[in-house]
Amino acid sequence: MKITLKNCYLFILSFLVVLFASCSVTDSRYERLLGTVCFVNLYESGKENIYDEIFERLRQIDDEFDLFQPQSDLYRINAFSDERPVLVSDDVFTVLEMSQKVSALTNGAFDITVEPLVALWRITSDTPHVAEQYEIDQILPLVDYRNVILNPQDKSVQFTKKGMKIDLGGIAKGYAANEVVRICKKYKVRRAVIDLGGNVYVYGKKKKSGLWNVGIKNPEHPDMAPLVKLTLPEISVVTSGIYERYFETKEKLYHHILSPSSGYPVDNELNSVSVISEDSMLADALTTAFFVLGRKESMKIIPSLREYFGVQIEAVFIQKNHNIFFTKKFPYKYTVLYEDWHSASD
Ligand code: AMP
Ligand code: MG
Repeated sequence: MKITLKNCYLFILSFLVVLFASCSVTDSRYERLLGTVCFVNLYESGKENIYDEIFERLRQIDDEFDLFQPQSDLYRINAFSDERPVLVSDDVFTVLEMSQKVSALTNGAFDITVEPLVALWRITSDTPHVAEQYEIDQILPLVDYRNVILNPQDKSVQFTKKGMKIDLGGIAKGYAANEVVRICKKYKVRRAVIDLGGNVYVYGKKKKSGLWNVGIKNPEHPDMAPLVKLTLPEISVVTSGIYERYFETKEKLYHHILSPSSGYPVDNELNSVSVISEDSMLADALTTAFFVLGRKESMKIIPSLREYFGVQIEAVFIQKNHNIFFTKKFPYKYTVLYEDWHSASD
């Protein structure tokens, strides 16, 4: 079978949402970290020390979460947690705790133990593989977040099954975005746009109106004008879409969000899901979970998620049939920018 890999990590594309959000990239800084382009704009000159601290922090998070660096926490977890408890940093432990909560509240739709499936499909690599059913069947018993044991006393993690591994690609960027915001608050930065590969945080008040415009990409044309324009106060907007990372065969498109129950890339009505919340880590995990659950199931659990986490959770579901669903009583102004796409409601 001939596989044509489409690398959707084009540097220039990752700026699209930010440009839309900020209309100006003066005094900005970017670096390739966390497997993506991390972009921050503080809108003021003379802020070099703050940029330095932000990017040092992002580099530190990148080091801790690097799957392939033998010193990293994640590498040590995957190498040894199936034999003994592995002590991890506060950063990694915080992300693991949130991952486990989201897994439990989404009936396992979000599950960091998908790593063996991610490694089988290799969707984001140069050598993707269309997995055979028998290969998936061998791996599926390793995929279950309930077999990850976290000990908050010593901040250790252990797996109950040999061969288990974890992947934090569905949540780590959200945690990093929260950390950038924490630094902005510490220095009383007035306004900032943070875009860590689609994990967008608009921080502070934009000049004049105080509100920001954030675009959600057109999943069919991610390199063109955004499909939806949202007008928002300080908040995070995180999107997971099938156009982000995928490979195509002649027959089918295989993307990077995997169903922990079937072992295959999720194939449902959705093209992308965006979650809007002040907690970017939660929003990140939920975009992945909602993608797996589909729109109807996600909409059902959103009220209880809001109650549990005590934060705002709004969502935009972009469907393959060109319908765009917003959570009930969506509190932000939005505009659909293409005539052949329509906002819809249940
Ligand atoms: P995102 O773009 O935030 O939806 O994250 C997708 C990434 O999370 C993938 O590239 C995988 O590394 C990982 N992943 C894929 N499927 C799942 C899942 N069902 N639960 C948790 N992480 C996942
Ligand atoms: Mg995610």
